[in-house]
Amino acid sequence: MSLMSALSRHVIHPLWDLKDGSVRLKTLRELRRSQWLPLAELRRRQLERLREALRHAGRQVPYYQRVFAERGFDPEKFELAEFRGLPLLTKADIRARSSELMAAGYPPETLGHHKTGGSTGVSLTTWFDIRWQEVRMADAMRANEWANWYHGMKAAAVWGNPPVARTLKEKLRSALHDRYIYLDTMDLNADSLRDFVRRWRQVQPEVLFGHSHSLFMLAKFLLESGVRDLRPRGIVSTSMMLIQSEREVIEQALACKVTDRYGCEEVGLIASECERHHGFHLNIEHLFIEFLRPDGSEAEPGQEGAIVVTDLFNRAMPLIRYRIEDVGVPSARTCACGRGQPLMERVAGRVADYLKRPDGSMVAGVSLVERTLTAIDGIEQMQIVQEAPRRIDLNVVRAPDYSPQTEQALLGEFRQVFGADFEFRIRFLDKIPQESSGKYRFSICRI
Ligand SMILES: [Zn+2]
Repeated sequence: MSLMSALSRHVIHPLWDLKDGSVRLKTLRELRRSQWLPLAELRRRQLERLREALRHAGRQVPYYQRVFAERGFDPEKFELAEFRGLPLLTKADIRARSSELMAAGYPPETLGHHKTGGSTGVSLTTWFDIRWQEVRMADAMRANEWANWYHGMKAAAVWGNPPVARTLKEKLRSALHDRYIYLDTMDLNADSLRDFVRRWRQVQPEVLFGHSHSLFMLAKFLLESGVRDLRPRGIVSTSMMLIQSEREVIEQALACKVTDRYGCEEVGLIASECERHHGFHLNIEHLFIEFLRPDGSEAEPGQEGAIVVTDLFNRAMPLIRYRIEDVGVPSARTCACGRGQPLMERVAGRVADYLKRPDGSMVAGVSLVERTLTAIDGIEQMQIVQEAPRRIDLNVVRAPDYSPQTEQALLGEFRQVFGADFEFRIRFLDKIPQESSGKYRFSICRI
């Protein structure tokens, strides 16, 4: 997610007038009510919306007219099993068939679009109608409320700063400096951090929002420099996996629970923790979400599955069974908060970040980083890069208590996971490098 869209979604728009009767506010009110409905009722509404979305796609979208005709799929009367037989939509499909996926009657000049970089560096553009944008904003606002973030509150953001955002940053500084402060993680140093703390004390933001790892970097600075007075009422972590050990550091430094959430530019908010912080509520009011095993069958609760999403609201460019290329774990638990939306246990990582063993089995790199940081003392941060079938580079940021034993333990851990015939190279870095979007990747598989 770019800085621009993050700010507009989370900060700028909520500060603008919320007129009574606007789609956004109306949707937010509905969402506040529907979260307490029983799951069966939510599922019934979801199916109704799915039918409506498919009906629209079958009538107005050339790609789906063809796909439905080829399979004899009838949006007017279908069973879920038939829906699950429709082909998955990949990022490559969207790139190759962008115009075929656009609905008739939605001219581009009336639409918005998102462009994302993606892990491969190949960009992906998706289009959306204005109503969808409002719905998406309402989704984010409800999830904000689960983190104690209510409309109009003063906010602080910790974010990477892509080059396009320079002018926006300037504008924000002049327009919103009373209500909003921003730490640019692409230019993080002791001075910028001290300046951020100074502005925090002036403005007294009530909520903090940012990339998971960027929040951690801020928290670490606060602990190391003895700053104890930054006390938000809510913290929203987004855009990348939140590692448990990093969550603990953030919560310790800011004396506030972190509310983690998961989504993507193409479909918006997919899942968010509530105030119980025990799993992620799936946004089934606006999405149909599947977790699929490699053979295409549904993952069982507790089992990893590729996340596949159908957007129930975007009429301009309907995404049906869109494979996001992330892996998540569905849950059969209900949440003690009483909300009806089902839970996802966690996001296990991006498909592209899974490391490969010679026997073909896969290892979730982010989970491995998490386990290593918990099990071995002396490592502050790390990144795993698989460059070849039997070679892994470990980029390590050393903690003060790093020692030869740390290195032994680290190599022992990785030999246990990957086998003794792997070559491991440890490189010491001052910090984990960022991608151009400002995000961090803890695990990269280049094979
Ligand atoms: Zn809950």
